[in-house]
Formats: sequence, structure tokens, C-alpha cells
Amino acid sequence: MGQLEQTTARFRGLRLNATAMRLPDLLADAEANSVSYLAFADMLAEHEQRCRDGRRVELNRRKAGFPSDKRLEGFDYRHQTTITKRQVNALLDFGFIDNRENLVFIGPPGVGKTHLAIGIGQKALEAGYKVLFRTALDLVEELELAEMKGELKRRVSQLAKFDVIVIDELGYLPMNRQARYNLFQLINSLYEYRSVILTTNKDFTSWGEFFHDDNVAVPIIDRVIHHSHIFMLGGESYRLKQKTNG
Ligand code: ADP
Ligand code: MG
Repeated sequence: MGQLEQTTARFRGLRLNATAMRLPDLLADAEANSVSYLAFADMLAEHEQRCRDGRRVELNRRKAGFPSDKRLEGFDYRHQTTITKRQVNALLDFGFIDNRENLVFIGPPGVGKTHLAIGIGQKALEAGYKVLFRTALDLVEELELAEMKGELKRRVSQLAKFDVIVIDELGYLPMNRQARYNLFQLINSLYEYRSVILTTNKDFTSWGEFFHDDNVAVPIIDRVIHHSHIFMLGGESYRLKQKTNG
């Protein structure tokens, strides 16, 4: 076995596979640029780390369950003028996640709530956070299933492992009493511990009605809006605009 093969095998044995795979290129690079020993050591470590981070992001992306690949880059602030690019960009240092704060997007259909929630979620993911996307309906169904199996607590603590949970379209469809209770259990465990990005067509004033004014309505709203950035979006539906523009 030659020296290169032997060294490659050592890297592989140490599970430094990215380095093992690219060792000839990394060596050629170092030689061509006459880098110092220390700089070369750093090159190897940096290469391995970058590949690992990239792999982790891709793994997290698969787990996130985004329904589509909406990007913030594709968001048109000339159409949606009730939120500014500056306001959105200010969220991208992810202080809101580190401080366990929530984002709430309120507005009628088609104004870009889901697009923004996914776009911000994607950016968080790429910054290394674990993100989960669920429609409120899917989430409630998932909790109901867990509850029926007597595993609500376990499922809730699994969900609380994500740094951010996007709950899309809360308030569109009615929920039964058990569903509201399950949702409360989740919101309660996430409160001041994880971030929620919520989109809803309901103003908080009509939430009581949506939750049938039962004893979980007020605490759910309370926990979601405490420590939250609330964005009231308006304007006309982007879907309608696209239709009329042909
Ligand atoms: P909402 O969740 O508020 O009902 P969506 O975010 O689903 O609305 O937006 C509806 C469609 O219009 C999506 O395909 C979305 O990508 C697009 N859209 C909405 N607002 C904008 C915008 N300002 N710029 C670009 N696309 C937009
Ligand atoms: Mg939506």
C-alpha cells in the first residue's frame, strides 16, 4: 500500500470520510499554494467540518417537511407592502430563535404568509437550526393519533426537540375539544423553550370564538403572543394578481 492509500485509510478509519475522499485534491491545493503546516491542518479540518455541516442541513431539510421550496429571494415586496424587506431581514440573525420568541403572520388568504414562514424556515435550517413545518391540521391529527395510542407526552417531547416549529393555517378549520387540548399541551411545552412560526387568518380577537371560548383558548393565545413578533399582512391575494395578469 502506498503512502496516500495508507493515509486515506487512516482518515476513513477515523470516520473523516470527506477528507479521505478529497485528500489528493487537498494535498495538491496545499502544494500549489505553499501553505504552512498549520494552514494545511486547518484546511483539512475546515473541509471535513463544512461537509458535515452540509450533510446535517440536508438531513434536517428532509425531516423539516416543507411542502414546497419557497425562498425569501423570490418574495416580492412591491406586491406585499405591509411588511418590509428590512423587517424580514432583521429576523435572519435568528435572535428570535435563540431568545425563544415566536413569529405570527396574520392576514387573509394569498398575501404571502406561508411563503414567508417557509422562506424564514429555510434560512433557519441553513443556519443550522432544526425546523419542522406542519399545517395546523396535520399537527393536530398527529397529536390526536399519539393521544389515542397514549403517547401524547412522548410525541410532544419529540416535537419540542425542533428549534422552530412552523404551524401553518391555524384557524382555517374547526377543531374538536380533544384537538384543542392536545394543541394546548404542545404550545405549553414549547412556551419559552422553542420558537413557533404561526400563520393564521384569524385576528386574535376572533380566536376565542375559534377555540369555542373554552378554557384552553386564552392560555394558548397568551403563550403564543407573549414574546412574539406579530405581522399583520394585508393587500390583495397574490394568487388573484397572477390570475389577472395572465
Ligand atoms: P397565504 O399563506 O397568505 O395564504 P401564500 O404564502 O401561500 O399565501 O401565497 C400564495 C401564493 O402566492 C404562493 O405561491 C406564494 O409563493 C405566492 N406569493 C404570495 N405573496 C407573494 C409575494 N409577495 N411575492 C412572491 N410570491 C408571493
Ligand atoms: Mg398559507
